[in-house]
Amino acid sequence: MPRNPPPLDLPVEYVRGIGPKRAAAFKKVGVRSLRDLLFYAPRRYLDRSTAIPIRELHGPSEEEVTVVGTVIDTRETKMRKGGTRYEALLDDGLSSLTLVWFKHTSGIRKWITTGYSAAFSGKVVEFNRFLQMVHPDVTELSKGEVSDLLAGKGRWVAIYPGNKELDKAGLDMRGLRTLMDRIVGEYLPDIEDFWTEEDRIKFEIPELEKALMAVHRPRSAEDHLMGWNRLKLDELVMLQLTWVYAKEHRRQRARGISYPEVGKTTRAMIEKLPFKLTETQRKILREIWSDMTSPHAMSRLLQGDVGSGKTVVALIAMTIAVENGYQAALMVPTEILAEQHYLTSRKFLKGLGVHVELLLGGSKTKAKQEQLDRIASGKPCIVIGTHALIQDAVNFSRLGFVVIDEQHRFGVTQRMKLMDPGMEQRPDVLVMTATPIPRSLGLTLYGDLDVSRLDEMPPGRGKISTIAINGKTGRAEMYAEVRKQVENGGQAYIVFPLVEESEKLDLQAAVESKADLEQTYLKGLPLGLLHGRMKLTEKEEAMAKFVRGETKILVSTTVIEVGVDVENATEMVVEHAERFGLAQLHQLRGRVGRGGRDSRCYLVGYPEITETARARIRTLVRTNDGFEVAEEDLRIRGAGDFFGVRQHGLPELRYADIVADQGLLIKARNIADQIIEDDPTLKKRPKLKAEFSRTAAKKVTWLEIA
Ligand code: ADP
Ligand code: MG
Repeated sequence: MPRNPPPLDLPVEYVRGIGPKRAAAFKKVGVRSLRDLLFYAPRRYLDRSTAIPIRELHGPSEEEVTVVGTVIDTRETKMRKGGTRYEALLDDGLSSLTLVWFKHTSGIRKWITTGYSAAFSGKVVEFNRFLQMVHPDVTELSKGEVSDLLAGKGRWVAIYPGNKELDKAGLDMRGLRTLMDRIVGEYLPDIEDFWTEEDRIKFEIPELEKALMAVHRPRSAEDHLMGWNRLKLDELVMLQLTWVYAKEHRRQRARGISYPEVGKTTRAMIEKLPFKLTETQRKILREIWSDMTSPHAMSRLLQGDVGSGKTVVALIAMTIAVENGYQAALMVPTEILAEQHYLTSRKFLKGLGVHVELLLGGSKTKAKQEQLDRIASGKPCIVIGTHALIQDAVNFSRLGFVVIDEQHRFGVTQRMKLMDPGMEQRPDVLVMTATPIPRSLGLTLYGDLDVSRLDEMPPGRGKISTIAINGKTGRAEMYAEVRKQVENGGQAYIVFPLVEESEKLDLQAAVESKADLEQTYLKGLPLGLLHGRMKLTEKEEAMAKFVRGETKILVSTTVIEVGVDVENATEMVVEHAERFGLAQLHQLRGRVGRGGRDSRCYLVGYPEITETARARIRTLVRTNDGFEVAEEDLRIRGAGDFFGVRQHGLPELRYADIVADQGLLIKARNIADQIIEDDPTLKKRPKLKAEFSRTAAKKVTWLEIA
């Protein structure tokens, strides 16, 4: 008689051997249907190669080891100091080992009794010349599993993620495994692949049934890898399909501006630049121009290291917009940077009749009101400012082009607010970042943006050397070198970290350090001071003096972090480098080496320095490449921490890890792109479409798939 398999969306409650109580417990771990059960992957595996025969333990071990066997005797003794000590003698057929628990042993006494078989993992210590394992981790096993493992023929034992609820429903570690073993044996053959055979061959995707079998019952390391890679790839393809759809959808729904021409003004501006654009800058301008002429709104990410020349690219694009009768906005994270961009744009646009406004926060003066009125009147102009730009009082009536500089300083919401301002016609948006984002993270966070990479530095730059300095012993020599360079016409930044996030202390540290340096190492040289507590005009004045070379050395807190450009600066001293993140240090280093002279960046660390801080400094000493620094930053910190990604809405992944599985992520994006290109509505792939709606539907409720 042909078997009549249950549908895979059968609620777990109705699966044989489960029932309402266990179903409720499963719901807590996100398992609702029979299909979910088949996709419930083990948390880890016990592999026979990691379990050692007891007689091979010859002494105490620093590493954790695993032994397998059956408990043949137990005893409990009172300790002199109070409390109890519980011992179990574990036998693996050839030798035995004592397992020990101290203090609250009543639970253990009931649980680990004679005849109990399991794998025990922990460190081995020596006590009264006998070896023992203290407070081991326990992985419960059946007798059969134990003898399989001891005989060396056992397959890997899957350990499923359990919890209290499952425990209470009678699904402890062993119970869960027995149940899963049966479910997999019974129902896995009914699973249908949602990839077509053609796609599977084309993209080298293993079969679903085989892959899931390998996840639940791996037979070898390769088998295990194959299975997990399939689950990860599926998850990542679904995520990338979401982004590719979001992008398509935005293109189709929002009407963009079609700029008709690059006019005389822009051409004149490019002519008059004091340098020739690099080949890469021109390539990127062509990409931007092609977005600007198309009827779709541009959403482009421009990545380029500090000093690679993004600003001029953005200014050219904004000039095109203004020349065509639109307003263009440039949003930057700090006022000091807004100032600097303002000065730069005035310089590059001098005599060309392009009006530039600098819009800062603060009180509403008469002058500011007039400025807001000009913006509201729709007069074509470039407006440069901080997030003050997206406040309600600012009323752009002909916003055609938006640049967001140092994007990672703003949240995703702010980006979206500028990208989708609820206007009938969406402005073109160029997002810029000097914190290069590793490709994998970019795909995960900005998968809906087109990406341009400015990976060529303007010519004629000097070399930057990065030197790690021991703060206890190396400062005198370092400052002597700084002094020498300054006396030879260079300029220096000396940066102190923000102390405990307190502006008051920050101020104190900077002021005191400056006074200290003035009396010691840098006596007689003109020092300036810049810190977050100063008024804007004071900051400007301090910066201006440094730019003019009236002060040769600028002692500052991290306010100079982004964008500031002084060609003559060749020395960067970062005091307490251990308190800065990798990306921040890279940014600071980018402040020097902007002119033709060779430069030096000193990273001063102090004895309390941690191993991760040391690793950060080593990375910077090794490489100047921002993309490499970013990859390393992501690796050291993990995705969750990489410039506070959590805030930026990093999607939660069940199987894949965007740091460890970068290769799969890139493969997933390629697959998603190819599929959408070939089959935009997934008409030819109904099963994949169903799987996509099932897994991605919640994330993109606004997405209509035709
Ligand atoms: P970013 O914003 O990418 O950090 P900037 O746009 O501030 O970099 O550029 C750094 C410096 O290089 C500026 O002084 C800028 O005028 C200059 N610059 C930009 N493009 C070129 C080029 N093609 N050739 C020479 N100098 C350039
Ligand atoms: Mg910049």
